[in-house]
Amino acid sequence: MSGVIVETRDVHLTFGISAGIFRGKRPLRAVNGVSLAIEQGEVLGLVGESGCGKTTLARMMLGLLQPTSGTILIKGRPIQEFERLEVARLLQPIFQDPYSSLNPRKSVGTIISLPLRVQSDPRPETWRQRVEEIMALVGLPGRHYNSYPNQLSGGQRQRVAIARALINRPQVVICDEPTSALDVSVQSQILNLLQDLRRELGLTYVLISHNLAVVEHMATRVAVMYLGRIVEAADTDSLFNSPRHPYTQALLQSVLTPDPSLGVPDAQLGAAYPNPLEPPSGCTFHPRCPHAMPHCSEVAPRAVPTAVGHAECHLYDEDQGRPRLAS
Ligand code: SF4
Repeated sequence: MSGVIVETRDVHLTFGISAGIFRGKRPLRAVNGVSLAIEQGEVLGLVGESGCGKTTLARMMLGLLQPTSGTILIKGRPIQEFERLEVARLLQPIFQDPYSSLNPRKSVGTIISLPLRVQSDPRPETWRQRVEEIMALVGLPGRHYNSYPNQLSGGQRQRVAIARALINRPQVVICDEPTSALDVSVQSQILNLLQDLRRELGLTYVLISHNLAVVEHMATRVAVMYLGRIVEAADTDSLFNSPRHPYTQALLQSVLTPDPSLGVPDAQLGAAYPNPLEPPSGCTFHPRCPHAMPHCSEVAPRAVPTAVGHAECHLYDEDQGRPRLAS
């Protein structure tokens, strides 16, 4: 590891959601004060239930959405100081669904070389060779250069998407559920490919996934999101072996349910995932928390540092009259 490559400082993004013709708009705080520093070479797993804000946060890091407030820094410089294409050269996404992210009317060679054309790469005579090199690197046979996406399997299409993301040699790749649209049989092949590419090319990953097994396998550190905030962050071993935040504990227990992709079963927590337009007061997790105390519904917990990261929970905050339970 050598320094912070992407950082978010108290980043917020609020959308105005129409509440009806006569009722104006109501604020939906999709991201609500996120501070994260992503170290070069790490794999940061970003986990949480659908709608918790992880994809919105990733889109802000990519420069695709502007924060309402707060700062995003790339290599120590505010993202607004970069040209759009500069950000794209440094950070690239790989999306969940290779079926919809590839243009069905373009050949594989054209799709993978698109970033070279968009970036006006000055050496067009080298494009074909570079495409063939990156195809070999991601395990796509050269004979597919002139194939179309509908002639490929799901795993091959995701390899095309990965090749397109990597052809300009970005430093950070944001992998948004990179295997969840694939057959189980090819998921591990794609995950192993991503691991090999990270080592070979010195990449940094932000891995968004609701699949905790994938995150445990890939990530070096994990941040847990709930209603737009990072409620716990820790290195992967610590988080999976001794989760501190009650929400993290519930998420890990949900792995034992028949379909963990559905998130934390409401029955297990006693209440449904809250409506983000009407977030609970105090600690937003309090209606579902088995350890909630009276002041949890009144006072929002601060981020309490632990030996391995932080947890936003009064259970660990001496200032809230509780002994620190663990560090
Ligand atoms: Fe539960 Fe209170 Fe901690 Fe929130 S602050 S997670 S309600 S114990």
